[in-house]
Amino acid sequence: MDWRPATPPGGDSRPPQDILRDVFGFSSFRPGQSEIVEAVCEGAETLAIMPTGGGKSLCYQLPALMRPGVTIVVSPLIALMRDQVSALRALGVAAAAINSGNEYGENGRAFQAAADGRLKLLYISPERLLMPDTIERLSAAPVAMLAVDEAHCVSQWGHDFRPEYRQLLDVRRDLKIPQTVAFTATADSQTRADIAQRLFEGEPRVFVRSFDRPNIHLAMSPRNNGREQLLRFLAQHEGQSGVVYCQSRKRVDETAAFLAGKGFKALPYHAGLEREERDRNQDIFLRDDGVIVVATVAFGMGVDKPDVRFVFHMDLPKNIESYYQEIGRAGRDGLPASAHALYGFGEIRQFRQWIEASEASDAQKRIERQKVDALVGLCEAHGCRRQVLLQYFGEPSEPCGNCDQCGGAVETFDGTVLAQKALSAVVRTDERFGVEHLINVLRGEATDKVVQHGHDSIKTFGVGKDQSRKTWRSIFRQLGTRGHAGPDAERHNGWRISDSGWKVLRGQETVAFKTEVLDFKDKAPRAAADAPEDYDKALFARLKVLRKSLADEKDVPAYVVFSDRSLLEMAAYKPTDIDALRSIHGVGERKLKDYGEAFLREISAP
Ligand code: ADP
Ligand code: ZN
Repeated sequence: MDWRPATPPGGDSRPPQDILRDVFGFSSFRPGQSEIVEAVCEGAETLAIMPTGGGKSLCYQLPALMRPGVTIVVSPLIALMRDQVSALRALGVAAAAINSGNEYGENGRAFQAAADGRLKLLYISPERLLMPDTIERLSAAPVAMLAVDEAHCVSQWGHDFRPEYRQLLDVRRDLKIPQTVAFTATADSQTRADIAQRLFEGEPRVFVRSFDRPNIHLAMSPRNNGREQLLRFLAQHEGQSGVVYCQSRKRVDETAAFLAGKGFKALPYHAGLEREERDRNQDIFLRDDGVIVVATVAFGMGVDKPDVRFVFHMDLPKNIESYYQEIGRAGRDGLPASAHALYGFGEIRQFRQWIEASEASDAQKRIERQKVDALVGLCEAHGCRRQVLLQYFGEPSEPCGNCDQCGGAVETFDGTVLAQKALSAVVRTDERFGVEHLINVLRGEATDKVVQHGHDSIKTFGVGKDQSRKTWRSIFRQLGTRGHAGPDAERHNGWRISDSGWKVLRGQETVAFKTEVLDFKDKAPRAAADAPEDYDKALFARLKVLRKSLADEKDVPAYVVFSDRSLLEMAAYKPTDIDALRSIHGVGERKLKDYGEAFLREISAP
């Protein structure tokens, strides 16, 4: 194994800014990173809460290079470890992972390198770290710091409780590790307090970074023909990598087959597939350009691909936390990315039914109901979507200018009169009928069923002639999602009016409806603050091909060679010599040496 250490074992004494530039190839810290790096360098117990893609890894990797000894990185995600280690080695950093998937002898060599002070970062799973054998081998090593990734796993309040995390503090004491730093993207205060209490010696310094991901364009639209809507969306994202989330395995299989039939490189991913196939599909997604993974929620944990350009939800996730986590997989590299979700009244109703049918306590049910309401609020939001989203995480903000609502794609109008007509149809038919029948009544269509019940002679008959069926369906859906009326499962799904519906009917409350924009178009996604928008597209494509062949040679994912952002800048600024190439984003000394010439040659090729 070749660790090719570029950093002296005693620790790199250059200022952080220089290491950032020369080793990582980044010109500046992301917001929040420099404060955290500073605290970590000072030796403080540190807890950092940053959104997915915020750049957590750098906050412990960079300080790890600056001190003698090895930093142990605990992560529950083995796939992620492997990629992080490849990425670090590509930068010339001595890194290794201990895991059961390693070749014979590799773990032993890694322990030895740690003991000799030749290794800077050692990745390990919590289970593995707790093994007596591991502790013994590590006690011979100069361990400078314990970095805990996915720190929310220590908390039962978090969504992935891992009992092993509870023992990390003991391990740390056994190994006499002077400092712990921990990272998570889970923000709620209960989880945060739990982490602070269970992982550290004393009170840690806590850093909370904004949850905003301004480069992700946000859009949501009502589902009318999901597949058509998906195709229209994909037409704007040709050749890009992305994830399409579906609620069930069956829908994943069908959608993946549908896309493959349309000529897309689309692969399914869900827990029902053979392990081998799942791993293979994930691997192709990580390594190749322009692959679409169609997946259930099973996909994503530990998928650390920085250049995912879009996340499309065929079905809604069941709360805002999941939604945010899933769209957060797009645009980690800071370049423009797009998130589009479809929603329908049916699935929201189903979420509500699941809650009511569950065994949970009343208090728990109340929380779950609030979560569904918040999700509906986001779908039906009238103002900036990002504002609604960030507000949910307790973060005030201004209208973002990078969502469908800010882009003006969704208009609203005062729909009180239409709502009253619809609700009156519900009431005057004795709250026993479904939407299609109610629409017949409203539109004055004397079908057999309408005549049979005498609904052609009630006052509401025909009062909604001026609106299309489609409009009425949309109105009922919006009434339903807001809880003014809805189907009653115990009475054959006949629609009933609620207390708030009565208020609307009596004119005590007004209703604004969305003018549904059926031919939605995403606004051109906004570029990252300083990413070039004007670049040579043909050259960019050629650079991607070169990147892929170099990556294949070394058997690493393409982005380990260079990120999209790096290629984009090369295609825009066309550096002609090593010095000019050095100023490109993501180009550090190691990569300059390894790949510089090949890329310069391609850039200057006729
Ligand atoms: P997460 O917070 O989700 O763990 P990562 O640490 O994987 O995020 O970082 C996400 C991406 O951002 C990676 O591709 C990383 O190389 C990139 N990145 C991190 N810090 C910077 C920086 N200062 N400048 C540019 N890119 C950065
Ligand atoms: Zn907005």
